[in-house]
Amino acid sequence: MRKIDTRNFRRATRSTAREVNRQILLELVREHQPISRADLARRMSLGRGTVTELVNGLLAEGEIYEGATAMAPRGRRPTLLHIRTRDRFVVGVDVRFSRTSLILADFAGRQLALESFETPLNAPELLVEALQARIRRLLESGGAMENCQGIGVVVPGVVDRKAGRVLAAPQLGWGEFELAATLGEATGLPVAIENAPMACALAHLWLGGDVIKTENFVYVTVADGVGVGVVANGQLVRGHGSTAGEFGHIPSEPSGPVCRCGSRGCLEACEAHLATLARYLGYDFSDRENHRRLHDSQFTMPDLIARFRSGDARARAALEETGRYLGIGLSILVNGLNPGRIFVGGEIAAAWDLVEPLLRREIAARALTRAAGATPITPEPATEHPRLRGAMALVVAPVFAAPQLA
Ligand SMILES: [Zn+2]
Repeated sequence: MRKIDTRNFRRATRSTAREVNRQILLELVREHQPISRADLARRMSLGRGTVTELVNGLLAEGEIYEGATAMAPRGRRPTLLHIRTRDRFVVGVDVRFSRTSLILADFAGRQLALESFETPLNAPELLVEALQARIRRLLESGGAMENCQGIGVVVPGVVDRKAGRVLAAPQLGWGEFELAATLGEATGLPVAIENAPMACALAHLWLGGDVIKTENFVYVTVADGVGVGVVANGQLVRGHGSTAGEFGHIPSEPSGPVCRCGSRGCLEACEAHLATLARYLGYDFSDRENHRRLHDSQFTMPDLIARFRSGDARARAALEETGRYLGIGLSILVNGLNPGRIFVGGEIAAAWDLVEPLLRREIAARALTRAAGATPITPEPATEHPRLRGAMALVVAPVFAAPQLA
């Protein structure tokens, strides 16, 4: 149950019931499409008249459309309803240290165009400039100028989602930056921003055919940093100052390398990409100068995994170590949050056959119950673009979300 916040609520008005039922109906269409009005009335225990009224409203707003008629054993054949997705567009942007990717997709998440460019370092204004030109070109060539519903941007850093402001993105060399307002002004489109793990978690709540049956899960991103998006009771956990999920900075090795946050032996300093590559190349990760050297070397995780596949024993050892540390990190999540499922997104997913038994062993050794020790873990390969899907979810999710009342 949720406690009513007496400092921040919306009083019920004459239209409140209608608004709640509208969102329930819309979500039912999304999950069960194609669906008939009679089926909706049955699922909602509502009269046909009320359902017809809600459906007419959603048809007029262009949220749903009428498709083919269904076969019926007798009487009039019902017309089936669908969510309108094909002629509604969304732009997703994934900003990463080295490259920024853009996707143009329809409302069902079907990819229409994908491109990427080098991220300008230490210069958020230059990034906005580059994005503005590319987004306009993408929309024009995709015939999507008219019906683009918005832009979602995923950022590696701490984000104030409500204000649309990046608070800190040390990987990019950014301090505070009004990203949503600046990009919104440049493109004339609504912009929503979020950090990567939270956006990836949101994508699993809202996109894709396999609607998740658990309302409690976590999404772990392993990339240049390590972050966690926590979903509890079907809602993202953002925390008091919207900085929750920084599990990457939990200490896991007291004598480990110095992390970019200043502490020693954080998970991130042991299992993030840079840490893994440093281990392989024999670089001292504590030395900041080596981070730059690693970036400049253009040697990446896929390169390291390719070397492991071709029989490089040191590459195998470096990845195995990452698997063990990842297992320590996941066991903290298992014990602390008891998720129904864990997703792991990032390049490490391409070496899952190697790391899974190692991280499973760490979790089994630390989990307090056998059930928790067997928490399902699903790797999500970078080739499936989880971060871009997360960016798209930032635009799509609010359309289907439950109304916030009290
Ligand atoms: Zn740290």
